[in-house]
Order: sequence, then C-alpha cells, then structure tokens
Amino acid sequence: MSTPRIGYGYDVHRLTKDRPLLLGGVEIPFEFGLAGHSDADVLLHALMDALLGAAALGDIGYLFPDSDAGYKGISSRILLRKVAAEVEENGFSVGNVDVTLVAQRPKIAPYIWQMRGNIAVDLNVSIDKVSVKATTEEGMGFTGSGEGMAAHAVAMLFQ
Ligand code: MG
Repeated sequence: MSTPRIGYGYDVHRLTKDRPLLLGGVEIPFEFGLAGHSDADVLLHALMDALLGAAALGDIGYLFPDSDAGYKGISSRILLRKVAAEVEENGFSVGNVDVTLVAQRPKIAPYIWQMRGNIAVDLNVSIDKVSVKATTEEGMGFTGSGEGMAAHAVAMLFQ
C-alpha cells in the first residue's frame, strides 16, 4: 500500500524594474519583474519546496544555493525538473499539487492554463493533478503595495 506524504512550500520575491516577470514558467507582460538569483519564478519556487518538503529532501536553497554561479539566471523549470527527478529517484510519485500566488497585479487568470501545463510537463503528471490559483491581499502588506509577490504551495506525494 502506498503511503501519502504532504509537503508545504512558501516563497517571496521582490518586484523590480528591468526584469521579466516569470510565473509558472510563463513570461507575463508587466512593467515589473521579480528580483532573484535565478529567473525568480516565485510560484515554481514555492512548488519545489512543497515537493521537497513532502519527500523530506531539504529545500531549494540547499539543493540550488544562490552562491553557485551555475544557477544565475537559470530557468526555474529546469530546477523543477531536477526536483521532480530527485523525488522520483527517492521512490515517490506525485499525487497532486496546488499553488496559490499572492499578487496585487497583474491579473494572471489568462495564463493559468499554460502554467498548469508547464508544471504538468515538468512533473510528468496529467494536468488535472496540477492546480494554480491566485489571490490578492486586498491592497494590504507587501504584496498589496506591489513591493513583492508571494506564493504558497502544497504537494501530495505517494511513497
Ligand atoms: Mg525563491
């Protein structure tokens, strides 16, 4: 019998000028992008930490240290595929994942299907196992002011 394992991930990145905005592997037209060592895809970062958490395999800061120049500017989809491989090699399969982006702007509804597709491909699961949602914090806090974006994720694995 397979044993279910749950994991949770959370990430924050600061918004800045002169960076592309990548969320769920989709480049979204916006006047700001997210600052970070990699492509700063906050949504995929939270997801990776949820997957690693469920497998008790550490976190992305441990696997992909930002002191490593090899990860500078790297696509988070490449990192997500590495995490998926790590999870699989350790005897886990993905049940489902659910990610919530917290951002005041822009509207991401038009891009959600593409994000789900990207994640499904990278995790090698069907798209119905991948949920991506978005919410605002009603203008409050650092996401409300547009200082940054946050993402929360949960992942269910089976061992
Ligand atoms: Mg991050």
